[in-house]
Order: sequence, then structure tokens, then C-alpha cells
Amino acid sequence: MKNQVTRVRGMRDILPDEQKYWSNIMRVTDHRLKSFGFQKINTPIIEAKELFIRGAGEKSDIVQKELFGVIRTGTRNKSEEEQKEIESVLRPEGTASIVRSYIENGMKTWPQPVKLYSFMELFRYDRPQKGRYRQHTQLDVEVLGDEAPLTDAMTLLALWQILQDLNFDNNAVIELNSIGDRACRSNIEKSLNDFYKPIVGHLCEACQERYKTNPLRLLDCKEKECIQYREQAPHIVDSLCPDCRSHFMLVLEYLDEAGVPYDLNPFLVRGLDYYTRTTFEIRDKSDKERQSSLAGGGRYDNLIESLGGEPAPAFGFGMGIDRIVQKMIDQEMEVKDEQGTEILIIQLGDRAKKKAIPLLVSLGKKGLAASMALGKESLKSQLRSANKMGAKLALIVGEREALDGTVMIRNMLDSTQETVDFEDVETAIEKKLEELAQD
Ligand SMILES: [Zn+2]
Ligand SMILES: [Zn+2]
Repeated sequence: MKNQVTRVRGMRDILPDEQKYWSNIMRVTDHRLKSFGFQKINTPIIEAKELFIRGAGEKSDIVQKELFGVIRTGTRNKSEEEQKEIESVLRPEGTASIVRSYIENGMKTWPQPVKLYSFMELFRYDRPQKGRYRQHTQLDVEVLGDEAPLTDAMTLLALWQILQDLNFDNNAVIELNSIGDRACRSNIEKSLNDFYKPIVGHLCEACQERYKTNPLRLLDCKEKECIQYREQAPHIVDSLCPDCRSHFMLVLEYLDEAGVPYDLNPFLVRGLDYYTRTTFEIRDKSDKERQSSLAGGGRYDNLIESLGGEPAPAFGFGMGIDRIVQKMIDQEMEVKDEQGTEILIIQLGDRAKKKAIPLLVSLGKKGLAASMALGKESLKSQLRSANKMGAKLALIVGEREALDGTVMIRNMLDSTQETVDFEDVETAIEKKLEELAQD
């Protein structure tokens, strides 16, 4: 291998073959969310580190191990401003960014709730492994400024319908739990601490730390032994305060009314500190090891306040697009590609090129999806590529046609062709396309 520059570790290219899945998912999601009244938003990839310390939590894995810092390279003595830049990071998650934007742009004065969604590139400094990269794309959906259980249920319904549109609903299951609010969180933690106190010495090292700092996360451990101990652990829902309990019951009732299926998972907690009340994950049924989820989220009624806004409740979720695409490929799901080139102009020889260019321009002005074959391929292989790109017609201008002032129109479906005068070619094409549309 020559002196080649390669991808940065943990990064990947998404090649043309995969793109139809991506555009299909984005089309389906745009359609579904817009019809639910969501508006699209884009926020910057670079954010202040502080945002995630206050959001996900100082002790969260994201902040402790997974942040990519941003620095300007090539400076030796860093100025104060450059020092500050180091305090910027590539965003590792979406919710905090959207909440920052909600506060900073005064969305509190808009009609509430504000319903937003975004496709986001997220960055996490994980150990790269098969199918896991340090950059991934997430659909982020947030409903800000409403605490009603109906918001939780309707947002879940929108997500469920997106999965239905993508033919994923048969393989997916929603797991639900409620993890309480400020009023009852200390009760929940106490009941967990009471349960774990006599056995804390038998837990894994990470769990011994969690026992002191964040007992809820004890339920989230992936170590075999810790999972065994967990079986007897108290259920969070049993320690909820009356308000949290009735909120959760209503969410479940609305989901029943909407026909959205779910499983209660009494041990479900999320890796980020800001979650309150309803939390959920969507799992692929084939993922028996419970390695990763297709989507996840929940309520975060205190986050807007923690990030400096006026207190306001909110609910949201993220859906990992890379994993959905991979599943679609694995399951050989059929996805229709958008129509690319409809008419391919094939020119052979210098004189033909000059004839073909104005033809391409005028077809383009008519709004037809026309393009010109490039490169030095033979007629045969150019026709093959016309087939591959799904073109309906090929317009062939060879040396003889260029001299005669004619064009050969080839129907790519049945391989019939006819020669027409250059002046008549546009009328002939329109007629052909009309005929094809009727078939
Ligand atoms: Zn553990
Ligand atoms: Zn509560």
C-alpha cells in the first residue's frame, strides 16, 4: 500500500449502496412527525462541555469517558479564548442541545408544548467494535413544556407508527417503567439501598461505586452476578409517590387506548441522570442479550431548569438510525429507491458531445431527470449502466446521428428503438414517457 491516508479510528463511510435505506427512513420519519405537528430543528455539532456535565451528569459514562474535546490545532501558547475552546466538545447526545436551544431562543413564549425533531450526528469515544462506531446518527424527538401523561403516550404512538411504517413493529417491543420525580426519588433510592446493603460486597466494582452515588443505576448493570442479585430487588413503581403513580397509570391507559403494545420492565433505568417518571426503551426481540436498544427516552422534568431555563417539564426520545439501517440490510428488507436518472444521453465521439450538451440542457429545463453518460465506455456498457440506474429511455447520439442531425431513442424496458430528427426529439420523448406512465 502506498502512502495512503485512512479513516480515523472508530469512523466509517456510508457508501452509495446504503443510502436508499437512509433516505427511506428520513422520508418516513419526516412525514410521520410533521403530521403529528412536530417541527424540524438543527443545532450545532459543537457545544459547551458544561451543557453535558449539567445535563447527563458529571458522573455519567458520557461525561467521564466518552467526550471528544475540540481544540484548534497548531497553537503552542494557548490564549484564554483557546482554553475555552477546549471546553467545547462534539455533542454526545441530543436532548441537552435541544433544551439549550429552547431556552436560548425563548421558545418558552411560543405556544406550549414545543414539539421538535432533528437528525443528529452524535460522537462518543467508545471502544470501537463491529457495528459500533464513534460517530452515529440519531433521530431526536422532544416535546417541551408539557407534563401531561397524554404527551408521553402520543409521542410513543408517533414513534410506534414510524416503526410500523418501516415494518419494524413485529420485531420490536416497548419496555416501560417509571422512575419517579424529586418528591419520591429519595424513597426509591432508600428502598434500593436497603435491599443492596447486605450484598454490596458481592457486586461488581462499578456497582459498589453506584451503590454510593446513584443506586438507580445498580439495576442497569450488565454483569451476570449483578443481574442475578437484581431479580429480588424491589420494584421502583412500588416506591412511587401518588402523583407519579397516577401519572404512570394514565400513560399506560392511553397506550392501551392507542393499541400500542408494551411490556413493563421494573428494572429499566436510563444511563443519563436527567430522566424522571416515564422511561422507556425499544428493543429488537432478537436481541436476547439485551445489548442495545433501537430507541429510548422518557421524561426529563427538571432538565430545562438545570440548564438555566425557567422550570418546565418535557418528554423525548432518540432512535439510532445506524442500527435500524443495519437491521434493514440484515433482514434484506425491500426499500424503494428514489427515481434517479430517467433519461440517459449516450454520446459517442466529439461531434456527438457538442450536439448532446444543448439537448441535456433543454431536457433539464423541462424538469426531466436527464443526465449524460460520462467516461469512455462503449455503447454496450453505457446501455448497461443506463439499466443499472433505472433509466426509462436512452438517447443515443453517435457519429452518424450527429452528422444526420438525428437521435436514436431507446426504450430501456423493451429495447425497442426509433430514430427521430433532432428538432422533434423533445416531443417524441414526452410522448414516450406518457406511454410508459400508462403501462
Ligand atoms: Zn454490577
Ligand atoms: Zn413522585
